Amino acid sequence: MKLYNTLTRTRGEFITHEPGKVKMYTCGPTVYHFAHIGNLRTYIMEDVLEKYLRWSGYDVTRCMNITDVGHLTSDADTGEDKMLKGARREHKTVMEIAKFYTDAFFADCRKLNIKIPEIVVPATSYIDKFIHMIEVLLEKDYAYLSGGNVYFDTSKLENYYVFGNQEAEDLAVGVREGVEADEAKRNKTDFVLWFTKSKFEDQELKWDSPWGVGYPGWHIECSAISLWNLGEYLDLHCGGIDNAFPHHTNEIAQSEAYLGHPWCPQWFHVLHLNTSAGKMSKSSGEFLTVSLLEERGYDPLVYRLFCLGSHYRKSLVFSWEGMDSTKTAYQKLVSRIAALSPEEGAIDTEAFDALRARFAEAMDNDLNTALAVTALYDVLKAKTDDATKRALIADFDRVLSLGLLEAAEKVRIAQKAAADAAKAAPDAELVVTCLTEGVDSATRSEVEALIRERADAKKAKDFAAADAIRDRLAAMGVTLKDAKGAVSWEKI
Ligand code: AMP
Ligand code: ZN
Repeated sequence: MKLYNTLTRTRGEFITHEPGKVKMYTCGPTVYHFAHIGNLRTYIMEDVLEKYLRWSGYDVTRCMNITDVGHLTSDADTGEDKMLKGARREHKTVMEIAKFYTDAFFADCRKLNIKIPEIVVPATSYIDKFIHMIEVLLEKDYAYLSGGNVYFDTSKLENYYVFGNQEAEDLAVGVREGVEADEAKRNKTDFVLWFTKSKFEDQELKWDSPWGVGYPGWHIECSAISLWNLGEYLDLHCGGIDNAFPHHTNEIAQSEAYLGHPWCPQWFHVLHLNTSAGKMSKSSGEFLTVSLLEERGYDPLVYRLFCLGSHYRKSLVFSWEGMDSTKTAYQKLVSRIAALSPEEGAIDTEAFDALRARFAEAMDNDLNTALAVTALYDVLKAKTDDATKRALIADFDRVLSLGLLEAAEKVRIAQKAAADAAKAAPDAELVVTCLTEGVDSATRSEVEALIRERADAKKAKDFAAADAIRDRLAAMGVTLKDAKGAVSWEKI
């Protein structure tokens, strides 16, 4: 498999420290607010990567942190603690906020078919490990105490800007416009490992430490949580592209200084979801959530398909038009799968292997999910039997996780119920069934009335009027399926 590596800035062969085993680390959410669908784009693409590695035969162990302390409103160690800000906004304690938004994050993951990593560690449960790691960094002279805080000394590293392409001036910590320089730092790129002195004395969560009562910096949590759970050789580290600097840069600095050897050779970064106004972010307060998508009548899996339709290394602009066309595509795909015979049967292994190879080829090419989705259409068009097609769809969906066979089964059940109702109903009565979830009752009544009007026109042999009604329904996004004595309809 070829995967782009932000560290080497090349697309290289995926490698592991131990053959067949992948140790994978993911930066988890900062749980002071709902995850927005930009955050979730990153988690969807990481989920696809993990599942594809498993599909390819790797034994994957994946770990994720939950940031419930230490992430300040600026990634550069300045500003207020995001958790505290969230707690104040909602008149709750920091731990109540953390629990509520961690649960909300997992609920969103379930709706999007994102598998939750087997190891999930809240930062506040690892304070003793952070302290140990900072002690070792001080012993090794990679850290120093100044003004009450412990800092990492970036001047001790030969190459601090490991991800390159960074304008040192632009990225330097603490010197941006509107941000005060931290006088206690020896170098402007140094960062805090442990705070005892911050401008915010009302910091709610504090722990005892050899350097006084305080709290950890944000970056140390991922290094320590990864090292403790996945060992000293990590294969793959993931996150959104905004994490590359300073967060991942600082993780590498601390971990390698602590270990004394290279730590993680492969870095997978997902580009941002943007709105027409720019990057979607929690701090701006302007963001879309999974619940909002549902309120607007979109199945969360339509958003998953929307993300899979573009490459993870390109920024993706969210639009409602894009969501509408993806919704139509999803419904059509599901309808075509529902039309396959559900009968079990022997698998045509030649066709199965050839189509599976096409899917693998797309995914092996730096996770080309858009092409992998088109492999689903290749399956539907292929000259093979329906049992083989269904087996292939199930196989690809182990990675894509679009819930295709389950959604198709729902459509089949609804169609069968409509047909049964038509058979049972008296001759004259037309059975009208809506196959789309979430359509409001006013629209349902309007569509149903038009469908009945059209049936009457057909009965009176006024085909022009019947066609005109069909066109009117089409303009409303309604497609019809006629059966004997029944009409079922879908709406985008
Ligand atoms: P946070 O909860 O802010 O710690 O972020 C959680 C994850 O979402 C991190 O991997 C971020 O890099 C990522 N992320 C933040 N904003 C976006 C965005 N607009 N699009 C995609 N990923 C994002
Ligand atoms: Zn992290």
